[in-house]
Amino acid sequence: MDAGAAVETSPDFPIPETMKAWVLGNPSELALTRKPVPMPKRAEVLVRIDAVAICATDLEIIDHGSPALIQGGMPFNKNFTPGHEYMGTVVGLGPGVDEYRIGQRVTVEIHAGCGQCKRCRAGMYTSCLNYGLNYGELDKGHRANGFTTDGGFCEYQVNNINTLVAIPDGMSDEEATLVVTAGTAMYGLTELGGLVAGESVVVTGPGPIGLLGVAVAKALSASPVILTGTRDNRLRIGRELGADHVVNVRNEDAVEAVRRLNGGKGVDYVIECSGAPNAVNDAIRMVSRGGKVCLAAFPHQETPVDVAQIVRNNIYLYGIRGEGRSATHRAEALMSQKRFDATKIHTHTFALDDLPTAIRYAKDRVDDAIKVVVKAKGVAAHRVAASRLRALVSEMAGTSPAMTMHSEEMRAQRLRIRNVMRRASLRVSSRMSPVSRRRFGISMPATIGACHDQNVARTHAGERLARAQYRERTFEAAKVEGCFRHG
Ligand SMILES: [Zn+2]
Ligand SMILES: [Zn+2]
Repeated sequence: MDAGAAVETSPDFPIPETMKAWVLGNPSELALTRKPVPMPKRAEVLVRIDAVAICATDLEIIDHGSPALIQGGMPFNKNFTPGHEYMGTVVGLGPGVDEYRIGQRVTVEIHAGCGQCKRCRAGMYTSCLNYGLNYGELDKGHRANGFTTDGGFCEYQVNNINTLVAIPDGMSDEEATLVVTAGTAMYGLTELGGLVAGESVVVTGPGPIGLLGVAVAKALSASPVILTGTRDNRLRIGRELGADHVVNVRNEDAVEAVRRLNGGKGVDYVIECSGAPNAVNDAIRMVSRGGKVCLAAFPHQETPVDVAQIVRNNIYLYGIRGEGRSATHRAEALMSQKRFDATKIHTHTFALDDLPTAIRYAKDRVDDAIKVVVKAKGVAAHRVAASRLRALVSEMAGTSPAMTMHSEEMRAQRLRIRNVMRRASLRVSSRMSPVSRRRFGISMPATIGACHDQNVARTHAGERLARAQYRERTFEAAKVEGCFRHG
């Protein structure tokens, strides 16, 4: 970066001239290239990106273009870098910025509205009337990183100070990337008019926003909170995040179940996060008369809606876009006070270079992926963990051969290994490639009981399966270079 006189930087955070950046070519084509590190202007800072989460909207943009809008059109072949759910460290201050300091950890929200239109003035900057008018003669100062301006699948990005949320030291990089997701759920509740303790909420669809919607509603003392969905493993996480009841809609009628669980009258609010074709019709039957429905997901096709049901029952429908009215700050407040553990939805971390693999995990829900995070740095922590693991493994190798896989000693050792990995967000999966295992100095037979895919690690049957897989080396077929996982 050519740091102009008015841009403040620090020798503690040296800024290179160029950076790694993924750019979008034709639909679904990403290429890793180098770009100049951007320069913060007035009211902007330069953020070194430490972690970025993949969002369903990123997948939509990469494959279909919309809702990104680059130079007034589709984002393809315009040297555009997608990615928007990132966090990092402030390393450069634009002219006049004194709200943040260099070295401060921040997470970001996406939309810096123009600040001058009617909607921005009312705090609805995600619905800025000058959306995308940030180029050529028409530059209105609008930014929506990863949508109308370059985003976070790179090493550095500029952010308007209005889009920054300071985070405490105790919050991990991965958790910080989830603030914006919780912020979307918070914005939904804000737009419904706010939630009073004891009011009832249904969340439909246990995707990332739905699951954190459960957590946010519960943290605000909603009661009961009911989550509906089709996958038991997701519903189980919803329970861990505070849902009082979960309903698997494959097994029972969602509307009937909700009415039964809430005394027959229906609930105060529904937050619709499924985008299922009949979701709106279900939602307007789940709320009581005068109830409110927030639409946070959309089906890809137009769907018929029972308008008479809405009118006769004085039901309110709200469409929300993203996270306006500083909802991310309120979400972060709940998270830093540990009112819920958002990391329950973080499942995988990859290196920035492995973005295509990370995207495949997110898109195909490989290995039950929910939130997949990509990290440019953080390798140091993994190295520390790897050397600690090596020590534990050699310790294990020196133990008595009589020690069986299920002995107390072995169990304790496995626990120690697992804890080291957990602290470093490190996961050694049975699918990890031999190259990665060698890099981390991990001998598979010694650690397999502790470290292979945690989805099967919990049962002895799973352990036997993984050991058999190891023997047959079938896991080598699926190469997952550098695959880490939060414990
Ligand atoms: Zn997103
Ligand atoms: Zn605006």
